[in-house]
Amino acid sequence: MSFLPEFKKGPHVLFYISPSGTHTFMAIDFSYKIMSTPGGKILIMTWNGFRGGDNVPKERLLDIHVKASITILDNSPLTYWRIEATSSEYDIDINSITFPIISGLTYIGDNGEDDFLVYPSLTGLLMRNPWKNLPVQPGIPWQLYPSGWVSMQFMAFYNIHLGGLYLATNDTEGNVKGFSVYRFSMNDWNMAVTHYQPYGEKSLNLTYSVIVGVFLGDWHVAAEIYKSWAENQWWCVEALKRSTPSWFLETSAIHSTSLYTPGSEGWASQIPFYTVPLLAEDSIKTLGMPVIMQVWGWEKHGTFTLIPDYFPPIEGWDAFDSMIYGVHRAGGKVSVFISTNYFSPELEAYKEMRKYAIKLKDRTLEGLMCPASTEWRSYVKEIALTLVRHGVDHVHLDGSLIDPPYPCVHENHDHPKGYGKWWFEAFKELFKEIREEAKKINPEVVFSSEEICELYIPFLDRFYSRGNVAELYATHWFWQITGSEAIPLFQYVYHKYISSWGHYVHGWSMSSSEISYSIKALATSLVWGEPLEIRLPSLNERMSKLIKINPIVLFFKRATTFRYKIAKDFLVYGEMITPLNFTTPVIRIKNPSWHLSPTELKETVTPAILHSAWKNSMGEIGFVFVNIGDESVEIKLRIDLSKYNLTQAFVIEERLGGARFVGKASNDFMTNITLNPNDIILLRLTEKRVPVYLSTQPGGMVLVVNKSSISPLNPTLLILERNKFYEFQAQMIHNVDESTRYKFERWIIEGERHGWEHIAANLSLKLDSPINLTALYSKEFHVNVSTPYGSINGTGWYKAGSLASLTIPVPEFLVGNGTRVVFEGWYEDGNLLSNETRLELKVDSPKNVEARWKKQYYISVETNIGQISGAGWYDYGSVAAIRLIAPKIQGDPLVRYVIDRVEGITKEDEFLNMSLILLKVDRPRNLRVFWKIDYTGLFSLISLITLITILITIATIIAFRYSSRKN
Ligand SMILES: [Zn+2]
Repeated sequence: MSFLPEFKKGPHVLFYISPSGTHTFMAIDFSYKIMSTPGGKILIMTWNGFRGGDNVPKERLLDIHVKASITILDNSPLTYWRIEATSSEYDIDINSITFPIISGLTYIGDNGEDDFLVYPSLTGLLMRNPWKNLPVQPGIPWQLYPSGWVSMQFMAFYNIHLGGLYLATNDTEGNVKGFSVYRFSMNDWNMAVTHYQPYGEKSLNLTYSVIVGVFLGDWHVAAEIYKSWAENQWWCVEALKRSTPSWFLETSAIHSTSLYTPGSEGWASQIPFYTVPLLAEDSIKTLGMPVIMQVWGWEKHGTFTLIPDYFPPIEGWDAFDSMIYGVHRAGGKVSVFISTNYFSPELEAYKEMRKYAIKLKDRTLEGLMCPASTEWRSYVKEIALTLVRHGVDHVHLDGSLIDPPYPCVHENHDHPKGYGKWWFEAFKELFKEIREEAKKINPEVVFSSEEICELYIPFLDRFYSRGNVAELYATHWFWQITGSEAIPLFQYVYHKYISSWGHYVHGWSMSSSEISYSIKALATSLVWGEPLEIRLPSLNERMSKLIKINPIVLFFKRATTFRYKIAKDFLVYGEMITPLNFTTPVIRIKNPSWHLSPTELKETVTPAILHSAWKNSMGEIGFVFVNIGDESVEIKLRIDLSKYNLTQAFVIEERLGGARFVGKASNDFMTNITLNPNDIILLRLTEKRVPVYLSTQPGGMVLVVNKSSISPLNPTLLILERNKFYEFQAQMIHNVDESTRYKFERWIIEGERHGWEHIAANLSLKLDSPINLTALYSKEFHVNVSTPYGSINGTGWYKAGSLASLTIPVPEFLVGNGTRVVFEGWYEDGNLLSNETRLELKVDSPKNVEARWKKQYYISVETNIGQISGAGWYDYGSVAAIRLIAPKIQGDPLVRYVIDRVEGITKEDEFLNMSLILLKVDRPRNLRVFWKIDYTGLFSLISLITLITILITIATIIAFRYSSRKN
């Protein structure tokens, strides 16, 4: 088959037996047979009698029998391999068998550039081109299962285009085995599985199979093969029954701090316990979500010193209890680390404890404790339970799985000597015992391990993945020889069953290049579904202060918020699926390293977009993308729905600013997404839910959707269940202030094919396709019309821009004797609008209209005779002019009427002449005018006539005198 690797020509060794003291034998007798079974064929091979071995005389015939079988199924790419060996030699035990050895490997395809080796160490390691990069070395050290160094039982070698080889075991009992990748020369390289058992056994009979198979695709496909088996095993079945509290799963921010850190002379740092609640309160407020405070350096001797002499805590139990109480009161949780495998030999008590240390055949591993000793487990359990009793919420069982199984031979330990599944059983007991007893104290308490192995999943709530440790330990021998990239292999198989955390962020003492690395580490944690851990540059510094100046802290907030509020159903509760394939620019990042000086940084090339793909419990697909570079990136995505068993789906883009309906996908869906620097996006594919844009016009009105309220300022995308009835209720009235408000008018519903309107505020809809729902509101202003008298029409709310009709039904009122009020006009802010009793007012703002009235007094004038004008109603304060017109006396011009007297007049009134009186109108008045006859004219005439008569008489006398003198 063309996709099989190129093998170097044989002969190839199929197995090694490792009896005590020697190896490498040649068989005397070999036979094989092929049996047909209903489902396939079985090849059975037997070897009887061997010669050879390093320390065995050449002539000695060893009575050792080996039988191996290979089962080939008709319809499976996987084959199942078994082996058993028996020694009848008194001095030859069978300690291990390496089987099968897949030797002579080179590369797949034309060269090794597209070849990868995937190895289940820590979270998973991926090595490109093992043919070129695998060093000449007898093996990958620390390759023993079950431990954090081999966390699952499979590895694969493949070409991304051509497929490859899958090598696994299906053991469910925790037998120790090595997964080896090694080469003796650059000519070829080998993959092998070694099966270990305790010393002194004469036979080894595998209780499980080795699986050798072929597959097409990359490591995700290999992981899928393994997952389909693993999910049916007891650790997954049990894990689903385990109750891990949601606070632990969902809390996305872990604030790590260190209180007492020993330095070379005295304390390197001393931060008092009481600081922790203050930091917790500040971080919770800054992030707007709960925080786990990971507290280091609380122990009697400070951080990682004289382990495990922890108690009492350095500031005493009272201060410790107050610290925990304070964090809880702030809304946070407390996490501490304790060691499960180490006892400092410097401690006096070690003299007593040394008998529980691991003893190998040739030496004691000083300080490293054997998990199989009941006494040591009790010791660790008591430490853990003491902390739980004091309120610690999360106890990290450090060191637990970081060691490979050791072949302990201590005579006083209660386990078989040498390798064996006792190692797994011992750790399982440790986790189980602690957990069961702790849950009686606090049912919400949680535990984690350092690294993980699949067998322990049911007994832990989380594991410390140290996902980026390969990058940080750049010069560590393990990663140096492999040059491997850390991948979420374990999460890909098991995220649904256990969560992880632990990408180190060197948040302190950073150059700018390290900022980019820290962001990469946080982003990796996020796309792997982990909560994010941060250490602030100065351990007692406040997040609220740093978030303004430190881009790492700002990104931390973005990423934790995204996990906690947007993508929880995928990143917390979902399962990882194969990510999309697309091209993304690469960026250069400088990795800090714990093994390099601070100024020395290792430059690495990383895709600018980190991403992952998920399936949630509803069967929705979620793609998470993070831009870790400092330039905008547009990615072109092609999504093949059939990969997810979907025929069509709605595609929704969700990010911190809000969600957007991208479109309806069917078959191959293409879309482009732009990510600005540090953008985080979830692309959701759903066929079970429907995108609904909800908006109010104008924005910000309150809507209630199935009893939860929302106040969309802008059109807000909701993702609602398909074919389910939803109640949308619009708030009828939204008051802006006392004179401006919005009133619900109608719903506007725009569907894919048609739209309609709905005038009731309550709207019930069954949704099966995307819609836009808009609650339309009209703005209203209050028109307040006030009047001191009578009634008025027109006060009330008016739609903006409408006309208010204000009327005064009765424009005048008698309010007393000779006193009345008369509508004067409509006033606003003291300005006259109109003096008509009906006013059409354009309502373009809140109105406060005042109807003004004026007081009038009645001025009555009575007379006994003659004419009078001017009686009537007068405004208060005005002057009434009363004209009096004398009646005429017929036929006698010399006699007339004159005013005799006027009653009711006062000093203030002006009686200008006989015919005009000016009255100041300040009360009702009643004038009575009396006339009399005036004869003065007649008298004058008589006088005139008399005078003239006199003058004539005088003239006559003078004339007479003059004429007589002349004569
Ligand atoms: Zn032991």
